[in-house]
Amino acid sequence: MGTTASPFLHPIAAELQGAGARPSVSSLARRARQRRQIQLMIAASYLIDALILQVYARAGTIPATIAGAYAACGLASVAFYLVLSETGFTERLKDHYFVVPQVIISMAIMLAFAYVAPQAGVLFLCELFLVFSFGALRATPWQTVIVWSGLVCGLAALFLLTDKPIAMPHDGPIERFATMSVFVLCIGRCMFLGIFSSTMRQSLYQRGLKLKEAYRRIEELAELDELTGSLNRRSIMGALEEEIARAQRLNNPCSIALIDLDWFKRINDAYGHPIGDEVLRTFAITVFANIRSIDKFGRYGGEEFLLLLPDTSGQHATQMLDRLRLIISELDWSAFSSGMRVTISAGVTTLRRDENTDTLLARADRALYASKAGGRNRITSA
Ligand code: GH3
Ligand code: MG
Ligand code: MG
Repeated sequence: MGTTASPFLHPIAAELQGAGARPSVSSLARRARQRRQIQLMIAASYLIDALILQVYARAGTIPATIAGAYAACGLASVAFYLVLSETGFTERLKDHYFVVPQVIISMAIMLAFAYVAPQAGVLFLCELFLVFSFGALRATPWQTVIVWSGLVCGLAALFLLTDKPIAMPHDGPIERFATMSVFVLCIGRCMFLGIFSSTMRQSLYQRGLKLKEAYRRIEELAELDELTGSLNRRSIMGALEEEIARAQRLNNPCSIALIDLDWFKRINDAYGHPIGDEVLRTFAITVFANIRSIDKFGRYGGEEFLLLLPDTSGQHATQMLDRLRLIISELDWSAFSSGMRVTISAGVTTLRRDENTDTLLARADRALYASKAGGRNRITSA
């Protein structure tokens, strides 16, 4: 039942499911199955009501033909809708459940029968209420208002333009039993609606949570470098600009380091590109394990990385980088391939007054070049 009625009762959920996309063959088949099941429920509802009308007829409240006529009208409307559904006509409509026309047809049937069999009016009025409630769950607010206005006109015509004695029969045990059944079934269906709505609210809430998590993950992925998990170039450059502005505003020290893996081309050549990738990943993990939570680390390009050290003096930054250099060089790289050694060189700079991103990076780059020229596996402070 859950899969049957959930998209019917929850237009938002259904729209989320198929947002913008052309429904696939399997989803068309699923929708057609759901429509069939809903029609089955509506047909069953008409038949149960017809049974109660039959009880009223037994008690002599209404003519014997009413129950049959009512069932025939109800089943004819279901058959009409099924034909439209099975021929694929309703798939061409925005609301493939065809809710509003169905609600209007059902309400017309109820009003007509309240007119011809007012002695059992309570049943038709209860049905009107139920049909409207089910319809309102799926219809748009405007459609609901329009349908309600139509319903008001119908009721006004029935109550004010005729003198039909719309009744709630209660003479004798049979009539009392039938009327009680009308209410029991009406309240039962309301209960069904309530339970369903709360289940769906719950599932929508869960879906919302999942969606939020997915968005968070997408945002995270858009900021990260796929291979190393460090910030990508766009993000680290954005972070650098923000940090420079912050440091200058607060007059705080701010240091950066451009780090480059030494002889990395040779590592690729000697051990292969996939091993080179693993080395980059291990290097990044090692850096993350040895920096503070306020530091930012990103891939500047290729095997060159930018480390952002907020609130850090040049001296501290150089010490930090030298410690990192030592850790990398002492790491057991033989797990990748025996005899492998990996070292890094870095250029460290500290932000000067009125300096911008370009000049800061240019100085870091020159310092890195000096480290390379000086023999690699070293840190140079600009
Ligand atoms: P140096 O010590 O002067 O930095 O020497 P190097 O060999 O590291 O310098 P170079 O810049 O010439 O080579 C960098 C190499 O890094 C070349 C390129 O193939 C490799 N590289 C860049 N990005 C990746 C990557 O994502 N994965 C792998 N495996 N290699 C990469
Ligand atoms: Mg290199
Ligand atoms: Mg390089």
